[in-house]
Amino acid sequence: MVLPKSWDKALEASLVDRVSRSPDHRFDESSSKPVFSIDTPPPYVNHPVHIGQATTYCLMDFFARYKRMTGHRVIFPLGLDRNGLPIEVAAEKKFKIKFNQVPREEFIAHCREVLEQSSAESTDSFARLGVSFNAYGDERIVGGKYLTDSPEYRALTQATFIDLYEKGLIYEAKRIVNYCPGCRTTVADSEIEYVDKPTAFNDLAFKIRETGESITVSTTRPELVCTCAMVIYNPEDDRYKHLEGKTAITPLFNKEVPIRAHPFAKMEKGSGLVMMCSAGDLTDIWFFREMNLSPVIAIDPDGTMNDHAGFLSGLHVKKARAKMIEDLKTAGLLLGTRQIQHRTPTCERSKDDIEFIEMPEFFCKQLDFKDDLRRIANEINFFSDSSRQLLLDWIEGLAMDWPISRRRYYATEVPLWYCKACSHVIVAPKGKYVQPWREAPSVKTCPACKATEFEGETRVLDTWFDSSNSPLFILGYGRDDAFFKAHAPATLRPQGKEIVRTWLYYSVLKAFLLTGKTIFRDAWINYHILDEKGYKMSKSAGNVIDPKKILDEFGAEPFRLWAASEGNLEKTDFSCSRERIAGQQKTLNKLVNLAKFISQFEFDEKAARSLAPEDAWILSEMDRLVLFSREAYDRYDFFQPVSQLKHFVWEPFASHYVEMVKARAYNNENRFSRESQMAAVWTLRHCLVTTLELLAPVLPFASLLIYEELTGQNVHRQAFPSVAKPRVSEFLSAEIMDLNAKIWQTKREQNLALNAPLETFSIPKKFGPLAPALREMHKINALAFV
Ligand SMILES: [Zn+2]
Ligand SMILES: [Zn+2]
Repeated sequence: MVLPKSWDKALEASLVDRVSRSPDHRFDESSSKPVFSIDTPPPYVNHPVHIGQATTYCLMDFFARYKRMTGHRVIFPLGLDRNGLPIEVAAEKKFKIKFNQVPREEFIAHCREVLEQSSAESTDSFARLGVSFNAYGDERIVGGKYLTDSPEYRALTQATFIDLYEKGLIYEAKRIVNYCPGCRTTVADSEIEYVDKPTAFNDLAFKIRETGESITVSTTRPELVCTCAMVIYNPEDDRYKHLEGKTAITPLFNKEVPIRAHPFAKMEKGSGLVMMCSAGDLTDIWFFREMNLSPVIAIDPDGTMNDHAGFLSGLHVKKARAKMIEDLKTAGLLLGTRQIQHRTPTCERSKDDIEFIEMPEFFCKQLDFKDDLRRIANEINFFSDSSRQLLLDWIEGLAMDWPISRRRYYATEVPLWYCKACSHVIVAPKGKYVQPWREAPSVKTCPACKATEFEGETRVLDTWFDSSNSPLFILGYGRDDAFFKAHAPATLRPQGKEIVRTWLYYSVLKAFLLTGKTIFRDAWINYHILDEKGYKMSKSAGNVIDPKKILDEFGAEPFRLWAASEGNLEKTDFSCSRERIAGQQKTLNKLVNLAKFISQFEFDEKAARSLAPEDAWILSEMDRLVLFSREAYDRYDFFQPVSQLKHFVWEPFASHYVEMVKARAYNNENRFSRESQMAAVWTLRHCLVTTLELLAPVLPFASLLIYEELTGQNVHRQAFPSVAKPRVSEFLSAEIMDLNAKIWQTKREQNLALNAPLETFSIPKKFGPLAPALREMHKINALAFV
């Protein structure tokens, strides 16, 4: 192929099979090369790939390509996360149904329909981005495509449940759990987002039984007065010390509750008196546990008040609150209301306010293992090191075991049955995916009572219980124990910082509970991508950059080069704009133009003998960049080397070196010896070829095309450049560039064109060896030395 005038995004379409879907990317099971495994985050199928994910995948692809060039077999799988609520919500919307209003089989069929349409799309975007997964469509090979809802993956998820259940690390208990009325399921602490919401803070009148005195109790949840078990004040609060041991009577419900001093009451908040209700918020839950009070649960899972709420029974929480306020007003028991910003727990997925409801659920033990988990967090190498604290902080704050069961349909089933006669638990055998709600267990009779009827468990597992298995799955855990033993832990977990407390934490926890060890050697945590003004991208702010549009408009290469040249891990976040991405096109054009210029010269591979001092200078600069790139790429830092390589291409190389040797390379009137001419061409080529090799992980399309034009070889099959003994030069890049700049400046001052001859110019003696090159470059008639 002849090189185009400039880099054109249309070239990518013709190269995508060679760049993204090459058989070279497959994992060679028979080779003995070292393995580098990347536990890629399986993106959620029915969500379009957003700019943050697109960036993360490009960066992971840099790592994979670099490791292949340094002699590794790379496990780089394409996983797709297909379990859980987002799929169910999409099916509910599309078919205008509710999951619990149609037969379960039918609902699952609807979910599958949604999935079929969305899976192909995500895969296509990755190929266009140039991501070199092991295999895009092949589930049979190591690192191929995997789906978290496939029978194999779900069988692994169930096997991990069975192991932990049999070890006693998973247990069932009735506890107050976080409950999302919108998603109608239990959610883990890690799925809760705290949002400051304007909320009415109401002053309610309670009465003191012993004295008849009226006291003011402030609350955001007046509908929970029916569950009030105690009124508290701060032990330091002199206003209320006289109430100690007395009894308060709740308004409208007229229930008698004790008054006590407790530090949970804040003197500055409201009147300083607080009613403690069952499960109004997390503080309440801790309080009830600490004080050994038995909670009265007044809200049912569907978000309506139950019989414990008396006259509010049957009303939805929000309506119950409004009615309570009305009735308090009528009775003269509402003393005041004002708006405050209340830190409200909400569901991360559906944004509904979280309720606290008592439910029997399965829990996975974690509180007993905080020390082990901290030790593992300290064993993993974090890039950057400061991200480790995100994981340590999360471990520190754990307050209850992980609730892992959910009351939904499209997820991996809890693999248990119960004997209808004696409730004996039948655990599924490991190795095969089971659906207890529709299948009979493998045993015919109950081992405890010999009865023959069973009831299958209907609950499913939290999707983090699934996705936390990804490092186990890609390394063959439970399917190929020899492979797992040889290649665990995974070399690298790359991911975004917003899922440290979920995906990273749960992966570390599960692997520890199952194997006692760490499952990652390295963890690389990506920053957030903000808009150009530094704001978070969101649909409502209208500042979202859609990677698909970027691909349509600019192609993958400018986007990838932008991701490399702005992704500084030492910063926490970085900003994105169309202009910054578009600007990268210039560097691609520069590489094409340099290649066109250099490829016109006849080339002799053995010409590196009669190097001029300027050749030695640029080669020393190139060697330094090779060493630096290797050292930084090994730390997953592409930002610094790529920034320096871009600078090298534009400044020392194109603006200075190329200009200094142009005349020698053309050698029009044979003013130079052939050896000297060939040395210039050799150096020009060596620098461009090496630069392309160094940039090949970042620019897989452009480097493939240009390198092939120059050398006839596939750049992606080359070994990454190395330098045993870096060349040294007597000149620094900065001083050569300064000197040229001074000459150009002189011409400008004399109103001369930059290519016009200059009568005289003096340079410091030390630059004597460069005199021939400088004379040619600047057309200086009399060059003097001082
Ligand atoms: Zn929800
Ligand atoms: Zn039985």
